[in-house]
Amino acid sequence: MKLLVQSSQRHAKMRAHTATHLLHAELEKIFPMTKQAWSLVEEDYTRFDFVSDRALSVDEIKAIEESINWLIKWWFPVHVKEHSYDEAIALWAKAFFEEKYADTVRVVTVEWWEWSLVSIELCGGTHVSNTSHIGAFKIVQQEAVAAWTKRIVAVTWPWVTNEMQKITDKLASYANLLDVPVAQLDKKIEKILKEHKSMQESIESLQVKLLSTELEALWGTSNDAFDHVIEIPSALLSIGFKQIVGEAKKHFVNQSLLLRSAEWQFALVSGSDSFSVKERAQTKGLKWGWSDWLFQWKDTTILDH
Ligand SMILES: [Zn+2]
Repeated sequence: MKLLVQSSQRHAKMRAHTATHLLHAELEKIFPMTKQAWSLVEEDYTRFDFVSDRALSVDEIKAIEESINWLIKWWFPVHVKEHSYDEAIALWAKAFFEEKYADTVRVVTVEWWEWSLVSIELCGGTHVSNTSHIGAFKIVQQEAVAAWTKRIVAVTWPWVTNEMQKITDKLASYANLLDVPVAQLDKKIEKILKEHKSMQESIESLQVKLLSTELEALWGTSNDAFDHVIEIPSALLSIGFKQIVGEAKKHFVNQSLLLRSAEWQFALVSGSDSFSVKERAQTKGLKWGWSDWLFQWKDTTILDH
């Protein structure tokens, strides 16, 4: 039994190791200048760190998975050969880096039959003899580990099944939550999003109506600088600053306004009388204006001046 477990573990690691070589080769297609920064090979699990300034896109991840699963499907042989270092350099110069190796090196290749190499690496690890033994390949995670280092976590055959089961379970729980069969999930989500959007729109239009009514009531007080000093209630703030200013402008045509709320500081609005508003604003010591009719400033004591 112990031997059986050991052999099963060894094969799981071999699957992951050969898959790591294939992953490395696929990444080099996307990032020709990339380097392997670090890799960890466990049973049916590989964690591969590589140098890149950007992450892989969803499409690139899908393409890598498809490509490796295609290599698995088509039974490509994996060869492990010993060569003298010089011989190896002469044969596959491009595959070797600046590292120092012993006189005899172990070269692991995955070959596209006689035609070309899928992958070539100097490696002392044990490998499956054929890509089909990997069974299946899936990337389960991508993250950044440092500014220039990205990490990919991938799994091989038995773990791929587990991962797929996890996804299936998740979908089933979403379907359960939304009370529809899994096959109708996308339609249901589309419907919910549509409803959400139209609800949001009607909330917004109600808020604008409310704001308009409130503004009538919020006539405000006047002081020596402004015709109206209006306090906007917090309940109306979700309408958004721009819309509030727009509505206020419509209501108080050609009048100078001071709008204030708990969230934003103060805004000053006026109709056509922008010059005098500017003047008045300046006499109040305002330093920053970002349109002819609207000023915003941070001095919350302005009302007390
Ligand atoms: Zn290796």
